Amino acid sequence: MVTMLRLKGKHAFVFGVASEDSIAWAICKSLAEAGVILHLGFQKRFMSRVFKLKDQLPAIAGFYPLDVATDADTKSFFDEFSKANPGIKADIMIHAIGFAPRECFDRPILFVDDDKINTAMTISANSLQRCLKHALPYLAPGSSTITLTYAASTRFVPSYGIMSMAKAALECWTRELSCHVGPEGHRVNAISSGPIQTLAASGIPGFDKILEHVEANAPLRRNVSQEDVAGTALWLASPLSSGVTGQCIHVDAGYSITMVPSNIME
Ligand code: NAD
Repeated sequence: MVTMLRLKGKHAFVFGVASEDSIAWAICKSLAEAGVILHLGFQKRFMSRVFKLKDQLPAIAGFYPLDVATDADTKSFFDEFSKANPGIKADIMIHAIGFAPRECFDRPILFVDDDKINTAMTISANSLQRCLKHALPYLAPGSSTITLTYAASTRFVPSYGIMSMAKAALECWTRELSCHVGPEGHRVNAISSGPIQTLAASGIPGFDKILEHVEANAPLRRNVSQEDVAGTALWLASPLSSGVTGQCIHVDAGYSITMVPSNIME
């Protein structure tokens, strides 16, 4: 299996580890198992949590602060990485970053203030462009960038609010950026994950009810796990998916293909 993936000795930037529950942490574990060397970007507010995880994964070669809220703080991650790893280029970039201020969920979308909307859009959507722009000099030819999205980008999910707009924009960035960097052989794809209990998800009102609903109605009659998402990320990171770019791949136990819940027939 590890031989098939052809990832041994490759390097990956991974952004979005905040706790053991983070989707990005499951991706780290899968990449590490495949022999990938990891360079993590962490948000300072999660520093102590992230550093506790460090000892669990010898594949982690370095940690550098990353705050995608500003261009300068995004660039500084890559400056620090290149100082510590001269000449090293990464083959994979995992962008598992999402954030919206509390007000985005507490107020009806019609009344959310501009600055809060802009923060959600900058961090959850436009940061993909920001990360890729600064990463490009440090990406090996044929690299694979993977971002994380949610199906509220195209359909109404109560309480997801401004994040729905952010995910729609993120998926559009995925397509646009894949066309921009594609001629040089770089790939950009999105994984649309079903709901998973994580720190970010805990901020979404009624999240437990969404989990219950998906478990009852998804074709597989279950929710997905971080490991389900990590499996697809591993495939997208590897040359097994070499012809795939600009796509949004649903890892959601099939929920996104349903429209009318099965239980109306009961
Ligand atoms: P998480 O809370 O573990 O991860 C969110 C990450 O975003 C954290 O590591 C945090 O540090 C990072 N982040 C937030 N603001 C940042 C900033 N300014 N600079 C740098 N990093 C910043 O939660 P998660 O659920 O693992 O989220 C990862 C991604 O998956 C997000 O994009 C989320 O929207 C997406 N997603 C999650 C679910 C779900 O149900 N959990 C479903 C679909 C998509």
